[in-house]
Amino acid sequence: MSKTNLDRGDGDQDRDLYSGLIRLHVLHHAVEEPIFGLGMADELARHGYRISPGTLYPLLHSLEQKGYLRSKEQVNGKSRRKVYRATPRGRKALSAAKNKVRELFRELIEGK
Ligand SMILES: [Zn+2]
Repeated sequence: MSKTNLDRGDGDQDRDLYSGLIRLHVLHHAVEEPIFGLGMADELARHGYRISPGTLYPLLHSLEQKGYLRSKEQVNGKSRRKVYRATPRGRKALSAAKNKVRELFRELIEGK
């Protein structure tokens, strides 16, 4: 683990701390539009989360197993990829989570 990773606070050692945030982030985007693994990895990287495919794909799979996401195979010429969308259950779970995030935000950031 390099010093830079530790400084940025996004190293693997903090993964457990952020796993719920990452799940909610994934769910949010799956509500907004169809998502796929690589695109989601880029999006998370943009927000400062470095997630390897070895972590992200099982995460997507488990969200699907729990009924929050539904996937389908998308064929594009010779390549195919799995595309995910939120299910109605996923939308419902996200809106419940938003209230909790808002609550936490108030305390963490606004000190209320
Ligand atoms: Zn995002």
